[in-house]
Amino acid sequence: MAHLLLVEDDELLRDGLCAQLMHAGHSVDAAGDGAQAQALLESKRVDGVVLDLGLPPVQGVPMDGFAVLRWIRQRMPHLPVLILTARDDIDDRVQGLNAGADDYLTKPFDMAELLARLGAMLRRSRMPAFGGSLQTEGPPQHRLRLDHQLPMAWLGDEAMELTHREWSLLTLLVKQLGQVVGREEVLAVWQTQAAEGGAAGSGSNALEVYVHRLRRKLQDSGLNIRNVRGLGYMLELQAP
Ligand code: CA
Repeated sequence: MAHLLLVEDDELLRDGLCAQLMHAGHSVDAAGDGAQAQALLESKRVDGVVLDLGLPPVQGVPMDGFAVLRWIRQRMPHLPVLILTARDDIDDRVQGLNAGADDYLTKPFDMAELLARLGAMLRRSRMPAFGGSLQTEGPPQHRLRLDHQLPMAWLGDEAMELTHREWSLLTLLVKQLGQVVGREEVLAVWQTQAAEGGAAGSGSNALEVYVHRLRRKLQDSGLNIRNVRGLGYMLELQAP
């Protein structure tokens, strides 16, 4: 069961879809245009979006589904989005997928098919919130979820207790999973935070200490922070 955002300007269709999605056990917020969709996405946690491509302008400014999709992708790169296209328009579908849609359906569509596609999309994403998540092989605690708005991190259903610095280190590592995050990059972020009133003092030794602590907190998560000599650190999935 997921919390969905439905963006559809056709009131009749919107109400009908809403009712059926709720009947299928989902909770739904509905928006009639792109601006409403943005406002809802900024204020609520959403697990997935059903997005009509043909949306009306907002206060005279064109804002179709593609514009909303690009907006979503810039802010919530992992939020699953299924687009609805008005007709069997191959260009729209290709453009939609290129713009980062996870799936599409052509109107008119079968409700059972929408529910099946939605379910598959949500399962694939395993992404119950804003931010990012990582799913490694194995037990539930192998699921690392980040919510950048709170900000908080969970391993499985357990909230991780992270200091400011551990959080920024973790987000840098997750963002660049499988790639080296340079020591300077982490230190630069910390310095900015210190300038903004965060914990003062930083340095290479401190970095090592924090990496060590974070590594301990990630123990048994299926994730490992590897020391890349002379360069920095890399978050990697442990072989099952
Ligand atoms: Ca429409």
